[in-house]
Amino acid sequence: MAASIQFLNFSAQPCFHNSATRLHAFSTQDYKHSIGVNNRISTTHGHVIWCENREYNINPDETVVEKTNNNKLKILIAGGGIAGLVFALMAKRSGFEVTVFEKDLTAIKGEGKDRGPIQLLSSALGLLENVDKDVVRDISEAGYVTGDRANGLADANTGNWFAKFDFLTPALKKGIPVTQIICRMELQRVLLNAVGGDLVINNSRVVDFVNDPNKVTVLLENGEKYEGDLLVGADGIRSVVRSKLFGPNKEPKYSNFICYTGVAEFHPNHVPPFGYKIFIARNQYFVALDIGKGRMQWYAFDKEARDSPIPSAGNKSKLLETFGDCCDEVIRIIHNTEEHMIIRRPIHDIDMLNTWGKGRVILLGDAAHAMLPNLGQGGSMAIEDCYWLMTELRNLAERNPFSTVSLDELAISFKRYEKKRMFRISTVHSICRIASVLTSFYSTYLTIGPLPFFNMSALRVKHPSFVVSNTLLKFVLPKFMDWVLVGQE
Ligand SMILES: Cc1cc2nc3c(=O)[nH]c(=O)nc-3n(C[C@H](O)[C@H](O)[C@H](O)COP(=O)(O)OP(=O)(O)OC[C@H]3O[C@@H](n4cnc5c(N)ncnc54)[C@H](O)[C@@H]3O)c2cc1C
Repeated sequence: MAASIQFLNFSAQPCFHNSATRLHAFSTQDYKHSIGVNNRISTTHGHVIWCENREYNINPDETVVEKTNNNKLKILIAGGGIAGLVFALMAKRSGFEVTVFEKDLTAIKGEGKDRGPIQLLSSALGLLENVDKDVVRDISEAGYVTGDRANGLADANTGNWFAKFDFLTPALKKGIPVTQIICRMELQRVLLNAVGGDLVINNSRVVDFVNDPNKVTVLLENGEKYEGDLLVGADGIRSVVRSKLFGPNKEPKYSNFICYTGVAEFHPNHVPPFGYKIFIARNQYFVALDIGKGRMQWYAFDKEARDSPIPSAGNKSKLLETFGDCCDEVIRIIHNTEEHMIIRRPIHDIDMLNTWGKGRVILLGDAAHAMLPNLGQGGSMAIEDCYWLMTELRNLAERNPFSTVSLDELAISFKRYEKKRMFRISTVHSICRIASVLTSFYSTYLTIGPLPFFNMSALRVKHPSFVVSNTLLKFVLPKFMDWVLVGQE
């Protein structure tokens, strides 16, 4: 019975609207309470064990799929990041055979440590919840809700808000989880636990594939070969699968920004009072997120040449100088960060492709559409991709319960997935680029002085570019955020 419920909810796309979902819209604590944290009986080596009487321990998958689908698709996935693991989880819950090739699981953890926490949007969490409520519950337990706080854009010089995003109302209206923050390593752990380590082959770097009419063969660096019905390229911004599929000319593009990331420590009573705040200045922006327990994760984007030298005096003193004109909130956050907690990296995205699939191979997540991280969207978009591609594959398997899936049928499914996703992804991708470019024209005040008799900046005249970007950001970005948060039907 539990099995059928799980299956029907995934295939019939609209999500659950139960009380537990609504409750954790208010806070993680309420949610933990509503689902009954007492069900958790032990946590050993990162593996969470739940009481036998929990509905989802019944392991619904195989029974359901055998009833509806004797033709188990065999899915190979390159990459065990967010996209690869979420897709593997959805494939497993759909009763398909799945194998994930990850070049280095410890690197995932290293990357997670380096990149710090990640913001997950309501839209993505809502879709994930349709597939596996336990995983969303575990994410909520490990994460921190920011969607019920002040979130939005501010001027970096004054710290004044000029646009606020309402993360709460769209989630409440739709009955989906509120946007939250989770440490990447925790997220990977939760996903890996749910997928099961036996489905993920570590130290397996995909180097090539052969796209035949009736099968795809994946070639690993160690010479091993694996055959499947389809290959999903979830191998990130420098995707080998993408370059083999469409040629090496779709390489990542430098954004003109170096990103410095850090975690500041505060006394819990003195944490700046917001959930997520983007401070904008000319050729710079600073994003700060409250990640709970008195810690604040931040990203400082500075317009610099890609090969600009690593600051000899250290990243912290460089940032205190470069962001020196910013408001106290920004300066205090940098001050409260230890030098060793600051990581520096050039930021890239890729140009949008007009198709993501060919033959038996399809891309998702950053492999398909890596975008700039300034609005914190890439991971959520990857999760959404997984859901909509899996929906197509489930429909395909249901239409062909007893026969091998043909190339033509796969092409139709891939096209439907692209059609579903292309507009949304292109819009988000473009808005991230526009928001980044706008900083080049941004200025709080008119600064054409000093003139012979006076300095214009002293008059604090609003710069025309400020008025334009202010108007754009103030009215367009909150609408954009509402649209992103609600997701796709
Ligand atoms: C500074 C920064 C901050 C960000 N903040 C946010 C945020 O707050 N919210 C958000 O939603 N997004 C954010 N993003 C974007 C987000 O990190 C990405 O969109 C997301 O990680 C994409 O997931 P993915 O699985 O597609 O790719 P990845 O996370 O890159 O995973 C790819 C995986 O494939 C593996 N791999 C690569 N090549 C091979 C191969 N040949 N064979 C086998 N395995 C391979 C890699 O080891 C890796 O594990 C941020 C990005 C950056 C840079």
